Amino acid sequence: MVSTAAVQNIRFDNADPNEPRSVNLYFDHYRGEPIYRAVAYLNNAGCEWSIKTGGCTMCGTKNSRLSRKIEDREFFAQFAVIRKHVEKFNAALDSPIKSLHVYNDGFFFNDNEISPEAREAIFAMAVELGMQKLVVETNGLDIVKDNKATDYLGRAVKRLGDTELEITLGIETTNPLVRSLYNKPDRVEDVRNSLDIIRDKGAIAKGYVLIKGPLLTESEAYQDCIDTIRTLKEWSNGKRFRVEFQPVCHLPNTLHEYLMTLDKSDPYFWEPPLLSTLLRILANFPDMGEDLYTALFARIDADSPWDFWVNRPHDDPETTYSLYLKLVEHYLYRRHDSITSALQIAREELWKKRCEQRIEQSLEERVQLVKKLLELSLKNRMHLSDYLKANLDRRLDFWSGCQKHLASL
Ligand code: SF4
Repeated sequence: MVSTAAVQNIRFDNADPNEPRSVNLYFDHYRGEPIYRAVAYLNNAGCEWSIKTGGCTMCGTKNSRLSRKIEDREFFAQFAVIRKHVEKFNAALDSPIKSLHVYNDGFFFNDNEISPEAREAIFAMAVELGMQKLVVETNGLDIVKDNKATDYLGRAVKRLGDTELEITLGIETTNPLVRSLYNKPDRVEDVRNSLDIIRDKGAIAKGYVLIKGPLLTESEAYQDCIDTIRTLKEWSNGKRFRVEFQPVCHLPNTLHEYLMTLDKSDPYFWEPPLLSTLLRILANFPDMGEDLYTALFARIDADSPWDFWVNRPHDDPETTYSLYLKLVEHYLYRRHDSITSALQIAREELWKKRCEQRIEQSLEERVQLVKKLLELSLKNRMHLSDYLKANLDRRLDFWSGCQKHLASL
């Protein structure tokens, strides 16, 4: 029987390439049953897109990358630590861990980020540890490129045999304008193609869908998430796809980190999505079961987003906590009544009020602005958030401050 009390975080020295950043024991869901999963965050070189362009506007992986090539021997040392901890977790559990997630904060099939030999060692580890599922992360560009040349994905599926390979793409949204707001590297066509490629090669296709990236209001973010899941469903045409929808977290050096410091009356002021928004998204897709979830709520631990919400209460704390537990319950048991009962206790008027917020400028205008700002911050070798801190007149609202700054150049 899976218990949330078993959750653990083992953290290591962030700067040591011979150790992963952390190895965590969480819970998960597999073929209708709750299971345990181990999640390992590797110390990594960094995502190429982030290194070359500053990366996606809401992404915090730039904060933890080591920004140098990780040698195979260093990766192997990290894997030995992961293996040791999975075995240790298993020794104390009633049922062994069935799902292994290994994240390198970038493109899994890119040889510049992780070599074929290091990937092979991950596959061997998953098989030898008896995993039913190995989960890795990448991006549409990586999959399309691999399909044209190396076919690492097809070979990985064969190599893993009975261990399923789940490929998680950082999709975030299928709206091209919102993708540009987030500065995603791949086009919508790449995302669509890559989902087909993943399925054709026998792996499981999963996408992260972002809720409320920077420069979106609550109602735009809600609608974008619903539209994206519907689009993914349509593209999949009855074939399986999984969605892990992610409320944006508070991370340093991101655009939303800057937007959180604006005056609350500024239309661009950013705050995390309401917990009830997450439940409302789930309520739209009663038939998706374990294939639609938000994994942040598998983490009742030191990394849990709970503090993030409680420190910015947008609901009374008691209701917020009850909603949080409902999400955990839904995550574990996928009962639709946990969603409906949560929505009965959520404060409807609060959601309606949040949804009244408007941004005057169109998405096209916002995209143009982001493009210019990203170009300037890259030219000045600064994080976008630092560039804004250094250059905007804080006496003005965000949009006017940006216009004034651009006009002064
Ligand atoms: S979201 Fe993915 S592609 Fe974008 S910067 Fe982060 S790791 Fe790179």
